[in-house]
Amino acid sequence: MESPKSRAHKEKKTSYRRRKHGNKKFYDSKAWRETREAYMRHYQRRLFKHIPMGKWDGMDLDAQQVTYILQLEYLPCEICLKMYCADAYDTVEKGVELDHIMPVNPGNALEPWIENEFGTLMACGDPFSFENLQLLCRFHHAKKSQRERRKK
Ligand SMILES: [Zn+2]
Repeated sequence: MESPKSRAHKEKKTSYRRRKHGNKKFYDSKAWRETREAYMRHYQRRLFKHIPMGKWDGMDLDAQQVTYILQLEYLPCEICLKMYCADAYDTVEKGVELDHIMPVNPGNALEPWIENEFGTLMACGDPFSFENLQLLCRFHHAKKSQRERRKK
């Protein structure tokens, strides 16, 4: 007979596999790819609209900051950019990972509710809303994913 502990362990393994599989389909989907591209264009338009005016996220930029951001040859990480505008960072890394600010359902990104261990339904992040997306560098994305794993 299986001990309850090993059964729980097995269940955990299956649900992890299901989770990974569950969202692979979503991340390969045309709807996600199109959202991703549309978000990048939207972000770039926002940068070119606000940075030349010396504004970002409610902060005032000086001429040197404006010049630095405009000469970047890549779309900047949104956290690095915020820190740079707040004078907390000297440089801004390239944004490479499009992150869901509020995590989507790990089993199926299209399913907006997930049941927690107490059977309570919890809201998941909207996978397609621009409000729920941010472009991050590898460092900030890894840091955030680590935090989310620790919360579970
Ligand atoms: Zn960053």
